[in-house]
Amino acid sequence: MKAVVYKGPFTVAVEDVEKPTIQHPNDVIVRVTSTAICGSDLHMYEGRTAAEPGIVFGHENMGVIEDLGQGVTTLKEGDRVVMPFNVACGFCMNCVEGYTGFCITVNPGFAGGAYGYVAMGPWKGGQAEYIRVPYADFNCLKLPQGNEHETDFILLADIFPTGYHGCELAQVRPGESVAVYGAGPVGLMAAYSALLRGARKVFVVDRVPERLQKAEEIGAVPINFAEGDPVEQIEEQTEGIGTDKGVDAVGYQATAQGTDNEEPATVLNSLVRTVRPTGALGVPGLYVPSDPGGPDEQAKQGMLLVAIGRLFEKGLRMGTGQCNVKRYNRFLRDMIIDGRAKPSFVVSHELPLDQASSAYDKFDKRIEGFTKVVLHP
Ligand code: ZN
Ligand code: ZN
Repeated sequence: MKAVVYKGPFTVAVEDVEKPTIQHPNDVIVRVTSTAICGSDLHMYEGRTAAEPGIVFGHENMGVIEDLGQGVTTLKEGDRVVMPFNVACGFCMNCVEGYTGFCITVNPGFAGGAYGYVAMGPWKGGQAEYIRVPYADFNCLKLPQGNEHETDFILLADIFPTGYHGCELAQVRPGESVAVYGAGPVGLMAAYSALLRGARKVFVVDRVPERLQKAEEIGAVPINFAEGDPVEQIEEQTEGIGTDKGVDAVGYQATAQGTDNEEPATVLNSLVRTVRPTGALGVPGLYVPSDPGGPDEQAKQGMLLVAIGRLFEKGLRMGTGQCNVKRYNRFLRDMIIDGRAKPSFVVSHELPLDQASSAYDKFDKRIEGFTKVVLHP
């Protein structure tokens, strides 16, 4: 079968690899109909991780079940399903409490597994014609038959729940004001989720005009940090108080204001300034324990200069970590089915799998409007 294979920094190729087979009675094999490229795939693509050439990318996957192990009880051949990017067992200490992003079964020595991702276990990615899904009864979310809402449902694998998770970590409540840093796909999903949860006013900080325009289209207030300190701009619009809540949808590859230099702590420090005393921060944006491409020695070891004193002084709470997709994907699916949510507004391109190489290149360079790419094998 064909799959997107990592060849080395800034290179992927669509190559023939072995088609997956049932390895365990609770496996299924899914024929992939949609698989999305994620901003976090770029961390591997750019050679900033320990990812070895040969890894098949793809943690945002959906499709149709083609083959089932004998122990699978709730699924059948032909079922249309979407899988959380988290591979999870469903029965470990963390899974039973809903923390499926921190499953201790699927990735020995570490908490949390994912398809096609370095250090996240042996699970092969789904930017391919087929994918093997373990613990299938737990990991497959059933979808209505047919192909309706395909580009909405594919976003249930990661970015829609991840944006929602940012709001959950920040405990966004009806009537609140929220500052979302980053208008990439996850930031837009966080802003959209804040509005779904009844936020009164949502600011979205970025410097890319097209992204800010998308934020405005969904009813958020765009804040262009190229035009001045975003914290001051938000203060001006909140009677000098700041927002109730904040979401970091950027992570460690943040850019300093007025330059193109990476400044990994800049978003966290801006949020500490933006959010009012006793507010809360949700941090779904990715931070890593080591970053070989970091701008200085501390950053290379995953250590950043964060204004912890100010954070303490303001009594801010901060929630972090990758999204437990399983916690949200069922009701977000139902909101899509019932017409209450249409997250596909973030999808910029739908392409056949064999155009993956140029799609990665353009997405990485942020050119030709490439923001969220869905590949169809
Ligand atoms: Zn993703
Ligand atoms: Zn588990």
